[in-house]
Amino acid sequence: MQNKVALISCEEYNFDKVYNAIKQGLDVFGGISAFVKPNQKVVLKVNLVIKFAPERAATTHPVVVGALSKLCLEAGAQVVVIDSAGGPFNANYMGAIYNTAGIIKASQDYGFKVSDNYNTYSVEYSDAKVAKSFEILEELQTADVIINVCKLKSHSFTGITNAVKNMFGAIPGLKKVQMHGQFQTLDNFSNMLYDIWGYFGNKLSLTVSDAIIGMEGEGPTNGNPRKIGAIMCATNPVAMDVVGARIMNVDPLTMPTIKVGIERGYIKDINDVEIVGDSLQNFILTDFDKRVPNMYTPFSTNVPKWFQPILHKLTTQRPCVSKHKCVGCGTCARHCPVGAITLQTTKKGKKYAKFDYTKCIRCFCCQELCPFGVVKVKSGLFYKFLHKRKKQK
Ligand code: SF4
Ligand code: SF4
Repeated sequence: MQNKVALISCEEYNFDKVYNAIKQGLDVFGGISAFVKPNQKVVLKVNLVIKFAPERAATTHPVVVGALSKLCLEAGAQVVVIDSAGGPFNANYMGAIYNTAGIIKASQDYGFKVSDNYNTYSVEYSDAKVAKSFEILEELQTADVIINVCKLKSHSFTGITNAVKNMFGAIPGLKKVQMHGQFQTLDNFSNMLYDIWGYFGNKLSLTVSDAIIGMEGEGPTNGNPRKIGAIMCATNPVAMDVVGARIMNVDPLTMPTIKVGIERGYIKDINDVEIVGDSLQNFILTDFDKRVPNMYTPFSTNVPKWFQPILHKLTTQRPCVSKHKCVGCGTCARHCPVGAITLQTTKKGKKYAKFDYTKCIRCFCCQELCPFGVVKVKSGLFYKFLHKRKKQK
């Protein structure tokens, strides 16, 4: 697998500028015709994690989707755009997201089709390391070519979401909740992601990242937009994420998806990446508000069982919500993979979400999917101290 990453400066969501930046990035790999042939069905797997407008920087920008679709249409392909967010995978739920994220309007402006296929497909994948069977979107199964069109953001669970993590959206709606429950540790979860990549094989050989305005802080949905000013293109998702991590000023090896990607042979090590185009130095954000993934502390297994949940609470980050800010909609409770959230009622009859930290696996689906952005990430008493020490070493 190639280890090249095209890193192309692009300052704004101006259609011509974005089109030219993607074209320049693809030229590094032989142009769009190296990936897309006439009459093929090309499915753009975008990031539409939540019903937010493009300005919130949680979703792949419609101009990026439009510009890439134009290149594919010019190559003679049919283009379909799809994602499956965290909620139910159906026309009502996804239709509202496509609309709010500007994808419906972009489809009218640029001539691609928004998927109306809400069927799923059961995969048996014997070569998988951890996920031998799972469900995927039927639209991806029937594609000739899949292009991963991600967004560079911080992520409370995995630290980074960009190329590798975006393909988790190949799993339909609420099935993702089950997968979080099944693959609870970051190692297992990351290996599951690579099983999805492995299943799609050569038909998933291109990633284009919208890093014009990314997200920092409490990503992937409730952080703050952060200007980066780049488009990235790559055939190797791990190589691309190493570049993404460098831009976010984090050590790529502290990102579990990258660490597991190296173990799975996508690149030899974090220096095994060739950047083509603009200089990485122009994009590194030294003051980026990053997220360090929650690892179980190594000594947590060497203490009495009764003490483990207490130790875990002290040494990790956890979701929390103010009773007053929570509107009791129940979205978080419906999406918690381990049933750690219940809706309670105050004496005045107001509903709010309550977390059971002895069950919580720190997947941060609740924080990701709270439509009101009121689930915050709180650090345990020793968490900051431990991470400060790790940094100093
Ligand atoms: S999703 Fe947000 S607002 Fe709704 S119950 Fe959960 S914390 Fe409260
Ligand atoms: S409470 Fe939130 S972070 Fe904890 S397991 Fe449930 S969804 Fe994940």
